[in-house]
Amino acid sequence: MTIRSVLIANRGEIAVRIIRAAKALGIRTVQVHSAADAEMLAVKLADEAVDIGPPAPKKSYLNIEAVIAAAKAAKVDAVHPGYGFLSENGDFADAVVAAGMAFVGPSGDAIRLLGDKVSAREVAARAGVPTVPGSGGRVLTLDDAHRIAERTGFPVMVKAAAGGGGRGIRIVETLADLEKQFPLASAEAAAAFGDGGLYMEKVITRARHVEVQIFGDGENFVHLYERECSLQRRRQKVWEEAPAFELPQVVRKKLCESAVALAREVRYTGAGTVEYLYDEETREFYFIEVNTRIQVEHPVTEMITGVDLVQEMLKVAGGAPLSLKQDDIKPRGHAIECRINAEDPFKDFAPSPGTITKLVVPEGKSVRFDTMLYEGYTIPPFYDSLLGKLIVWGETRSECLERLAKTLEGLKIEGVPTTIPLHQTLARSAAVASGAFHTRFLEGWLETDFTETKTKSAEVA
Ligand code: ADP
Ligand code: ADP
Ligand code: MG
Repeated sequence: MTIRSVLIANRGEIAVRIIRAAKALGIRTVQVHSAADAEMLAVKLADEAVDIGPPAPKKSYLNIEAVIAAAKAAKVDAVHPGYGFLSENGDFADAVVAAGMAFVGPSGDAIRLLGDKVSAREVAARAGVPTVPGSGGRVLTLDDAHRIAERTGFPVMVKAAAGGGGRGIRIVETLADLEKQFPLASAEAAAAFGDGGLYMEKVITRARHVEVQIFGDGENFVHLYERECSLQRRRQKVWEEAPAFELPQVVRKKLCESAVALAREVRYTGAGTVEYLYDEETREFYFIEVNTRIQVEHPVTEMITGVDLVQEMLKVAGGAPLSLKQDDIKPRGHAIECRINAEDPFKDFAPSPGTITKLVVPEGKSVRFDTMLYEGYTIPPFYDSLLGKLIVWGETRSECLERLAKTLEGLKIEGVPTTIPLHQTLARSAAVASGAFHTRFLEGWLETDFTETKTKSAEVA
């Protein structure tokens, strides 16, 4: 069945992105929205829009019944879940299929298997993919936690099996600390994710976050090379690149092949990402998790490979075989993505919803801006703060950085504070240029280098 109509079960910039891909394929688009999102860009761009409930995500974007009812009423062939919200909910995928529509993503079973970070570790191990040393399965008691910590050594990470979005992770430094943190972590995970299950991992210090884009149709599996997402704040990605910074060829090959082995192990369907931590000193990489959906940073992969991942998702969900052949995927140049959030980087990243009074978007063939914004739009306070993503390509990384710095000067978003000044400083930072980063780098840099910039600009003003 070729998909002729799709319902977008999401909001913000990713909804706009999906609508663009659907339109390119001649697919009718139906956009759901909460009462707070009637004016969002995706609603204006879609062929139809359906109000599915009050602003609180639980009552709208996370309400499976409401989304399915809207899809049935609109008589669509398929549902695209985007990222976040219901995108990694296996029961939602099953409900879409049970209602006679295609789910644009893997099966409910695959989502449950890989979405649980503990069973995903087991799948990785079966596929021969190295995992971070830690617990075998879930850690059920404090006694077990003690034993594992003594084996791996401190510091150790206690992680929620159902965690995501940088939440549900605690670093534990001592045995006494473990006794205190373990029950708290379990209670917190139960409240946040509806599953108090925990597992433990050795802390890989000064690691880089490197992830591999995979794609499958249940029979054929390819990778679209790697992305580097080491610039993070509170374990959330801030800036992403493709390819990773100076990854040795042998490592790159092993890494990408291991991700394909994992995809093959579960006969994966759709777009997915296998995330790893990479230790530059030992040249070892360790699997951390799989995201069974399109990722925020997918455009950097699209910029270096020329593949439209969202169009490919829609085709494969319609039953077409994967159109990508491994040998045809030839990355070229370098791409960087900056996440532009409605947050004030000078005020500890305080969320800053409000009305956009001016928007100037730089253009160019190596520049892409994926956004939910337009002039006069009022950002509702109920959702995450991502406003858009600036993606820039260059023949080399240094050309890319230079173009990014210039492009950021031309990007004007007025009315609310944004993270643009942070990215301007990063784009010109010598440390970033030299690739001297790891997953804790940005937090340190914010305390030192960025604080200095802040002080200097305050003196000038
Ligand atoms: P990516 O892995 O694509 O870089 P993020 O980690 O930034 O994406 O997550 C994308 C979105 O999904 C964010 O809005 C994030 O808060 C949300 N998210 C991801 N996993 C979960 C989860 N398990 N529970 C709640 N929100 C999640
Ligand atoms: P999420 O589901 O929230 O994305 P991940 O397991 O992917 O959680 O981890 C998010 C981030 O937390 C990683 O990119 C990394 O910065 C850090 N992290 C996770 N596990 C470890 C570990 N074992 N050692 C060091 N850092 C880790
Ligand atoms: Mg992750």
